[in-house]
Amino acid sequence: MLQLGGMVPLTSIDFPGHLAAVLFCQGCPWHCRYCHNPHLLRTDVPSKLEWAEVMCFLQERVGFLDGVVFSGGEPLLQPRLLDAILEVKAMGFKIALHTAGIIPARLAKVLPYVDWVGLDIKAPFDAYKKVTGLVGSGFKAEESLDLLLNAHHVDYEIRTTVDPTLLGEEDIEQLAVSLAGRRVKRYVLQTCQKPESTVNTPRYLGENLTVLFPSFEARD
Ligand code: SF4
Repeated sequence: MLQLGGMVPLTSIDFPGHLAAVLFCQGCPWHCRYCHNPHLLRTDVPSKLEWAEVMCFLQERVGFLDGVVFSGGEPLLQPRLLDAILEVKAMGFKIALHTAGIIPARLAKVLPYVDWVGLDIKAPFDAYKKVTGLVGSGFKAEESLDLLLNAHHVDYEIRTTVDPTLLGEEDIEQLAVSLAGRRVKRYVLQTCQKPESTVNTPRYLGENLTVLFPSFEARD
């Protein structure tokens, strides 16, 4: 069903307001220099978990967990993501999706069945290549953002990882203004966890951005 690189059996932070398990989908075609899960990028490796094992695990957690998070890597890369979501949803779990929006058409198919999305928006859309290494990646992310903002039943968080070696203060401000113009209701700046990033950039920038969004957070 899915090519999985691993699972976290219990989290209270990856799906706000829910106790959930996290499924890490294997594979991502982008090359963000700060990627937090580089071991999940390759697609030419066998799945670490059989889907039947995941289903057994979830069956035993009905009543204890209330959500399942599809994370990665990049879940939208999985051709059978929709089938997997439908199967998990049929067990009564709420569904969260962590994505960078790399395949908007696939996002459009799963959105009707998803309850919460954490969407990474990595840079001003015309500057995406600086972060992902791929020309045109910003247009995919922009299309996915618009799909999400038009899916009014889905709760969400838009987040940007701030790597000062890739994005300047002006980049972040330009992006934030553009997101506020689209009426994004929750925006989060995340500190890059690379060892050489010593500046707590999100909190510094956040002082200027708080007023732009109904909900804003600078997260370490
Ligand atoms: S989109 Fe996400 S998973 Fe893919 S390379 Fe970038 S940070 Fe890593």
